[in-house]
Amino acid sequence: MRLEQLSTQLKIHSPSPEQRIQTDWTTNSNIQFYVKRDDLIHPIISGNKWRKLKFALYEAVKAKHPHIISFGGGFSNHLHALGYCCRHLGLKFTAIVRGNYQDNPSPMLNDLNAWNADIQYVDRLTYQKRADPSYLNELQCSYPDALVIPEGGSQQAALAGVAEIIDELQQHYDYILLPTASGGTLAGLVARLEHISYGPPIEVMGIGVLKGEGYLENLVTDLLPNQQAKQNWRINHNYHFGGYAKSNENLQLFCSDFFQQTQIAIEPVYSGKLFYALKALITEQYFPKGSRILALHTGGLQGAR
Ligand SMILES: *Cc1c(COP(=O)(O)O)cnc(C)c1O
Repeated sequence: MRLEQLSTQLKIHSPSPEQRIQTDWTTNSNIQFYVKRDDLIHPIISGNKWRKLKFALYEAVKAKHPHIISFGGGFSNHLHALGYCCRHLGLKFTAIVRGNYQDNPSPMLNDLNAWNADIQYVDRLTYQKRADPSYLNELQCSYPDALVIPEGGSQQAALAGVAEIIDELQQHYDYILLPTASGGTLAGLVARLEHISYGPPIEVMGIGVLKGEGYLENLVTDLLPNQQAKQNWRINHNYHFGGYAKSNENLQLFCSDFFQQTQIAIEPVYSGKLFYALKALITEQYFPKGSRILALHTGGLQGAR
């Protein structure tokens, strides 16, 4: 199978559109605001999860791994996307899920069940070991045929898929903003931009969606080839709203108002925090006049069910 056949088989819409957006907080702002609609890549395979999983899935199919194992929480967009891909590619899928949702499964877990995934609920302490070499070794010994993919799909092999976002862009941007949780998407963008030596610089800003000052920067740096120094990228920690999946009424109202103004659906865990931060930064004139700004809509609407 070739890589394009994988995309065709899964009905991936690519490249995703890049749209100019007007809202009441951009009209008089002297900046140009665009959105890269990775949320439209697929109705179920959440935008940035496809970007991160693409090459890993291709390797799994090529190397004839009949089985994929990965990790996530009870509402994980990553497990949802991967479970759907495995179902459609005829691969066995084991989801190792933090917490016990047996009696009270989320819509995401109901979908995984319907797709015949093998779901293993583990306690917090076991889940904490998800990246330990000895734990992964044991797992691999129990399932010698399986390909183990880390939480969120964030691994070195994910960077090339994310880099394609940069290559699809139709014009120059001064800033690219995106939500950041496990750092793979940010690292993929930065790794690609390091190899572009022409044109004016592009600054990448991750909006941290969890309380993770220092921790998130380390995740990104660890993924970058040669542990590239921090250049042209930063993570803004002012818009996590108290932690992962935490929100408040302001954020909820903002999400529905944004939808009314743009017809683009967002949710409070990832894209809501991204666009909320953008509105705040534009309003306080953080960006120089005339800036072109691209927001990456990473998808994730299933998590809001
Ligand atoms: C997983 C996810 C993110 C976080 O991406 P990372 O690469 O883990 O930083 C952002 N947005 C959505 C919708 C996601 O599902």
